[in-house]
This record gives sequence, C-alpha cells and structure tokens, in this order.
Amino acid sequence: MIPLLILGTGPAASLLAIALARHDIPAQVIGRPRTAPAVEGLSQRVVAALKQLGCHEALALLGPRWHRVSSWNAQEVEMNGEFVVDRVAFDAALLRDVRAAGVDLRDGLVRELERGEGGGWCVRWEDVDGRQQRTDTALLVECRGHTAPKMAPDLHAGPTLVSLGRTFDGARAQPRTTFIESFPSGWAWGGVDPQGCAHIQVVMRPASVAAFDGDLDLAHAAALAQLTRLPQRFGRQLKATGAARARGIQAALRGAVAGNGYLRVGDAAYTCDPLSGHGMFEAASGAIATVPVIKTLLQRPAQAELARGYLRERIEAVFFSRIEVARQHYAAETHWEDEPFWQWVTQPVATRPSVARVTGPAAFATLPVVEDGFIVERRVVVSAEHPRGVRFIDGIDLGRLDALLQAGAAIVPADIGCHLGAPADAVARALRWLQTHSLLTRAGHRSGDFTTARGAFNDEKNPV
Ligand SMILES: Cc1cc2nc3c(=O)[nH]c(=O)nc-3n(C[C@H](O)[C@H](O)[C@H](O)COP(=O)(O)OP(=O)(O)OC[C@H]3O[C@@H](n4cnc5c(N)ncnc54)[C@H](O)[C@@H]3O)c2cc1C
Repeated sequence: MIPLLILGTGPAASLLAIALARHDIPAQVIGRPRTAPAVEGLSQRVVAALKQLGCHEALALLGPRWHRVSSWNAQEVEMNGEFVVDRVAFDAALLRDVRAAGVDLRDGLVRELERGEGGGWCVRWEDVDGRQQRTDTALLVECRGHTAPKMAPDLHAGPTLVSLGRTFDGARAQPRTTFIESFPSGWAWGGVDPQGCAHIQVVMRPASVAAFDGDLDLAHAAALAQLTRLPQRFGRQLKATGAARARGIQAALRGAVAGNGYLRVGDAAYTCDPLSGHGMFEAASGAIATVPVIKTLLQRPAQAELARGYLRERIEAVFFSRIEVARQHYAAETHWEDEPFWQWVTQPVATRPSVARVTGPAAFATLPVVEDGFIVERRVVVSAEHPRGVRFIDGIDLGRLDALLQAGAAIVPADIGCHLGAPADAVARALRWLQTHSLLTRAGHRSGDFTTARGAFNDEKNPV
C-alpha cells in the first residue's frame, strides 16, 4: 500500500504533486492527460504560483501577457492583462514539470474506487496498453476535475450554463487582446492575435442552444450577432476554422470534500463561474493550501480531524465568496436585467451557516491555522470581514498579545515588544488594531486607555 495517491492530470493534480515534492512528501499520480481542446486565460496570480513552484515548462509556454478589455454595462475598460493558453499544451507542459520534480506519474484511466480494508482505498485503473492495474493507498486525493465521482450530494449547485467556443481566421490583426462583452442572452470572451486568429466563447443558458435544435454553430452565430463592441475590434470578416464546441458550466460545491483518507482538490472540490477566469487559480491555490493538510494527516494523525476541518472550511468560505463576487459582477450589468439569463445569474445565494457564522462584532476564537507547515489550533480574531480569522498584525501574534494583556501586562509597546521579541512600533500597531476592533477590553484597559497607559505609549512617537 502506498501512503499517498493523487488522481488526475490537470492543474490541481500537477501542482499538488509538485508542491508536495518540494516539501519532500512523495506521491504517486495516476491520470489520463487532457485531449479536449480549450482556450483559457490565466491571471498573473497563477503565474506567481507557477514561479513559486518552479514550473519552468509551463512558464516557458506562456509567452507575453495579452491586453484585456471589458465592455460591461456600456463601459469599456482596459483591465489587468491575462495569459492565454491552449489547455492541452499547458497541461502537457505542467506534466513535464511534474516529471522534472521526480514525481511518480502514471498515465492511466481510473475506472473504480473501492474502500480497502483498514480504511484505505483500492483504485482500479487501465494503463496506456489497456492492461487492468490496481493500486492501494492510505490517502487518496481526488483531482479528476468536475467529472470526478461524487462522494456525497452537492452542498450547493448553481444554474447550469453552456459555453460555446469557436476558432476563426481573418480577424483584424492586432496586438494580442482578449475582450469581454455582455449581451442580452449572455456574455462573450474572445481572444485575437497578431496573425488574425481569433477564438470566441459565448456563455448562455442551455435554452439558447436548444432554440437552434442543438445546432452549436447556429447558436454561436446567433450569439455573435448580438455583440456590438467585439465585432468592431475583431473585424467582420471572421472565417470559422472548425465547428463550435460546447462545455457545460455550473458553479457547484461538492459534499464530503475532506473525509477519512480522502480529499478533493480543484474542480473536484468546487467549480466557479468562468466569468471570474479563476478556475486555474483556484486549482493552484487549493493545491498549495492542501499541502499542510496532507503533511498533518501523514505526520500528525492525531490532528487529522482538525486538518480536515481546516480544508472543509477553507473550501466553503472561498467558494461562497467567489460566487458572490460573480453575482455582484453580473448585477453590475443593468441593461438586460429582465432577460432570463441575467435574472438567473443574479439570484441571491444562501450562504451555508458554517460560512456565515460571524455576524456580530470582531471576537477572539480558536481556529485551525497553518504553522510551520502543519495545521494547528491558535487564537485568531474573527469578524464578518474576516470569517476565517486574522492571526497576525505587523508580525504580532494577536492571540499571544491578548494572552499577555489578560495576564496583566501593562500596555506599553516597548515592554510587550521585549516579551514577544518584536519591535515596539509593530506592537503599537497591533494594539491600535485591537482597539479599533473593540478588543482591548481588559479591566482597566478599556478601549482608548492604552494611549496613555503609564504615560509610556506616545501616539506621536508611535504613529499607527
Ligand atoms: C467554459 C469554461 C471556460 C473556462 N475558462 C477558464 C479560464 O479562462 N481561466 C481559468 O483559469 N479557468 C477557466 N475555466 C475553469 C478551468 O478549466 C478549471 O477550473 C480547471 O481546469 C480546474 O483544474 P483541475 O485540475 O481541478 O481539473 P481539470 O483541469 O478538469 O483536470 C482533471 C484531470 O483529470 C483527468 N481525468 C478525468 N477523469 C479521469 C479518469 N477517470 N481517469 C484518469 N484521469 C481522469 C482529466 O483528463 C484531466 O487531466 C473554465 C471552465 C469552463 C467550463
């Protein structure tokens, strides 16, 4: 039995395997590389993650950043650029990085998962020659994307949308540019390059495709006919180089994302609306955040439930914040608010109680956090603004600072700084932050007292 097995060969699986290798945690990866073509944009934040993990092959593929222009609510704005990739080539480059990191990577189609004896898993898969294989593992990390089998009902599932993508020649040659435009029955994302090659995706309700008897080319053409700004940019002489291709879209949060001997990462855990263009960022950040969870499960099994709880809460909080940001962005488009698409995507979303638990004033709470590469419990300040907690202000551990104050320490930044091994001005800023959040409430140290305590704390010398 191997200790750790990752299923999938997309960004989540690859980046998790590389991040674990960088922490000297060996994992085996089994997956069938992507073959379905797709053009996607990735942000500077994904590039930062690729650099952090030393993914040289993937970085070499990116080329220059594309201009990004958005036409939304009748306003055209130039935004942060993005990098446009062919996902088959990008995923293949990441897999070369996986191999370069020394990860044991197997090309295989996973057929079946079964609970093994003693709490592990038995994975049945087919290798490239069609031979049936079996791998037993103690810890399974599911990264097979949004089609990964569910282990429990979804905790949230938004409306189903469809994206139709088509590639063209004959566009107006120009510096690499991506363009987003809203229209009555949806929105479009297109990219055009200096050779006049363009790729345009339109996102609509499935009914808008059904209206053309499922003819994807006709549905795509009808959507393009609703656009005004994008055709001005790309030119009106577009010649399709192939058929339109459909991809399903649904913002969904899976149930049982962290169970006994089992974790889900990337789209296998939750999918966002591609309006955000964040799917690969979510996969990358989710993979990086899962490393201390896996380290805790493998090396401190007594803390396993704490680590799993940390991952569950992180996934739920991130998911609900992402779908609320997408909803607000859709709501900012007010020209078609009576159209079915726009009514659909602006419906309020009921947040799960575990995520919405902080509604009152800021307060100290004991929550799982990452420390020295493991998940541990520490006191942090939770608030509606920071439901997952704030632990440090200016490098000062707020829990330790509060413990000192509760034990009777005078509110003198220099003295506290000596105790914590930290500069007095950093302590002063942390105290000010606690005061601002009405958390400097120890008897005799009511909010506001500390500025004059013992006369030693001087606002002018310690501006906050
Ligand atoms: C229409 C659309 C447009 C999008 N546009 C963007 C965008 O512009 N920018 C962006 O960042 N994100 C975008 N996304 C989201 C992005 O595609 C995903 O969030 C991202 O690919 C998630 O990575 P992942 O590794 O979790 O899953 P995936 O990329 O889906 O990887 C899953 C992997 O598992 C493999 N696999 C599946 N089943 C098996 C099996 N049985 N056995 C073995 N292997 C298997 C697959 O071949 C694949 O390699 C878009 C999504 C959609 C639907």
